Amino acid sequence: MRNISFMLTWPQALAQLKTVTRRVGWEFLRPGDLLQQVEKGMGLKKGDKITRGHVISTLEVSREQLSVLIDEPAYGRAEVDREGFPHFSPEQFVEMFCRTHNCKPEKTITRIWFAYDRPGNAPACLSCLKSSWTYNALGQVACSHCSRVFPGAPSFNEEVNTLFTRLAENHQKLQRALK
Ligand SMILES: [Zn+2]
Repeated sequence: MRNISFMLTWPQALAQLKTVTRRVGWEFLRPGDLLQQVEKGMGLKKGDKITRGHVISTLEVSREQLSVLIDEPAYGRAEVDREGFPHFSPEQFVEMFCRTHNCKPEKTITRIWFAYDRPGNAPACLSCLKSSWTYNALGQVACSHCSRVFPGAPSFNEEVNTLFTRLAENHQKLQRALK
């Protein structure tokens, strides 16, 4: 399975809130293709471990200009939410994309719409152990029950990551036991 990196939206991806991603390249992708979410694809130093997230299933692949998000405001708003940036305007999203990918708003990118292979499998909140995520007023991923900000927003710390993986595994075991 091919890895796909979600470095800029790792909490949104782990919380299963993000369902659309825009990429430079990736034209070869087809509906039905399974992908492994990873935190970092490139820039791993020797000895760094790959941090894996969820397996996702490709629903739709299309090519469009980034600037469509600005030209069609209703579409832009919905898409920026699906991208995991509810606190950004479409203009801000396009600006951020251009800065991080060194391109212009006229750039034609690949839009990938995807589903989580195991929905409802997001890690549990470290405070209340429930697994229901939303966004707070700052646009951070936060627990819908106790408002605790998702670990990894804004910086993912190794110790929390390990704890979190363990909690997620326990959560999965519990879910399996309940079935
Ligand atoms: Zn909570």
